[in-house]
Amino acid sequence: MIDITIIGAGVMGAAVAYYLSRYNCQVVVLEKENDVAEGTSIANSGIVHSGHDPKPGTLKAKFNVEGNRMYPDLCAHLHVLFKQTGAFVVAVNEEEKQILQVLKEQALDRQIPCQEMDGEAARQIEPNLSDDVIWALSLPTTGVVDPWEITLGMMEEAVLNGCELRLNEKVVAITERPDFYEVTSENNGQISKLQTRYLINCTGVYGDDVYRLLEPELDFFITPRKGQYFVLDNTIAPLVGRPIYPVPSTVGKGILAIPSIHENVLLGPDSEEIKDKENVDTDRARLAFIRQALTKTVKNIPFDKIIRSFAGLRPTPSTGDFIIREEEKHPRFIQVSGIESPGLTAAPAIGKYIADEIIAAATKYGLKTNYQNRRKPLRLAGLSIDEKNKYVQADARFGRIICRCESVSEGEIIDCIHRPVGARTVKAVKKRARPGAGRCQGGFCEPRVVEILARELGISPMEVMFDSQRSPIFVGETKQAKGE
Ligand SMILES: Cc1cc2nc3c(=O)[nH]c(=O)nc-3n(C[C@H](O)[C@H](O)[C@H](O)COP(=O)(O)OP(=O)(O)OC[C@H]3O[C@@H](n4cnc5c(N)ncnc54)[C@H](O)[C@@H]3O)c2cc1C
Repeated sequence: MIDITIIGAGVMGAAVAYYLSRYNCQVVVLEKENDVAEGTSIANSGIVHSGHDPKPGTLKAKFNVEGNRMYPDLCAHLHVLFKQTGAFVVAVNEEEKQILQVLKEQALDRQIPCQEMDGEAARQIEPNLSDDVIWALSLPTTGVVDPWEITLGMMEEAVLNGCELRLNEKVVAITERPDFYEVTSENNGQISKLQTRYLINCTGVYGDDVYRLLEPELDFFITPRKGQYFVLDNTIAPLVGRPIYPVPSTVGKGILAIPSIHENVLLGPDSEEIKDKENVDTDRARLAFIRQALTKTVKNIPFDKIIRSFAGLRPTPSTGDFIIREEEKHPRFIQVSGIESPGLTAAPAIGKYIADEIIAAATKYGLKTNYQNRRKPLRLAGLSIDEKNKYVQADARFGRIICRCESVSEGEIIDCIHRPVGARTVKAVKKRARPGAGRCQGGFCEPRVVEILARELGISPMEVMFDSQRSPIFVGETKQAKGE
């Protein structure tokens, strides 16, 4: 019998696993995809919001504010890149300026540092703010993080401390027994069953579908709400030094310019309710709308430096707020559903709340005495030449550059394959070490990444997948003699 099973390895599943891994209990994570952070957690703005805008009295407001305060120490502990950039919310007319006043009062009520300034003062700090901006609210505790890295960092430390991550396991049935749940999962047609005392639903846009496996009468549903983005090349001077928000609307925070932790600038997201929970296509009309909307707040946007576009799906709950509760009808079934924005920010606070205040408070699980800290990932970018040379002298593979755009060495790729939650696919390597994240988007380095994966994992290049189990890169050899 397993103590606790978490379904879903996005940032929420990872945060819950991370905080539970401090306790003496057995934790298993079931994830339907081939890697962590493959759902909403792979495609978002990467902003650690200050907590100024969720509605008062909501779980969003509570966990956003708490999560923002946890991020600096959490990222330092996990060796995850984090930058407290600050942010501006900007107004272009008197009506919007009034909204900034409301946001300011809300921020002050929550003890969030903030400062108002006029458009000129704001442009002194951010020269590419539009000339139409008349007023700005500065929020210095806003930050940026790599959403893949924080998810991976928490999961890696959880695994290092005994949590078991089972990838490619899609939960297809849940049966309630008197003292436990029986969970059925499927991996490539193979069925497995496990028994667990606690079951935690962290399945993003599938939160309602997974709960329906247990409970036919749901009091909520989840609608996927798509947001699309452009990404600017990181070889040009960043357009902005901090996220620039317009005043929020009824559907969210609006269209932003966001300096990512890797110095690309993201432009987006828009907001579109859709039906298909797998549809992350981008489309020309929506991207054109983003371009147009951005010119209201930011000028001099180098649209000729776009290197890609992408989309993510917000798991928007019908209740309007995060759904975080132990189900009364189903004891020990814990709902972590409808975690739309600011879910990335709130994740550590929610994970800690579930581990400490729901599970540890109701059980006798004590804290571990032999807890281990995750090893720092190898990251040569940003080191001095002398420091890089030390790595190269110790191991020549650190001098062999595989991705020229992002300057990623073979040594760093090998490291990310052999870590506790090691990369198994081309996209998993990209998420950890960034080959393929630059200007050429993998055009040059991808075949070499395939070679390294095949060699390090002891498999044929034909078996290397791009991301899911259904994404082979090669279908056959060329120049083979007929009949061979
Ligand atoms: C456009 C956009 C911008 C955003 N920007 C920000 C931001 O800047 N700051 C911020 O704080 N938040 C932001 N968010 C919100 C944030 O990204 C989400 O709140 C967060 O990623 C949700 O994480 P999750 O773990 O709940 O869901 P997911 O990351 O989707 O994880 C759910 C996991 O469950 C798995 N799963 C589903 N069904 C099953 C099953 N049957 N069996 C096994 N596994 C299953 C999925 O494969 C997936 O890996 C944004 C979201 C979007 C879409």
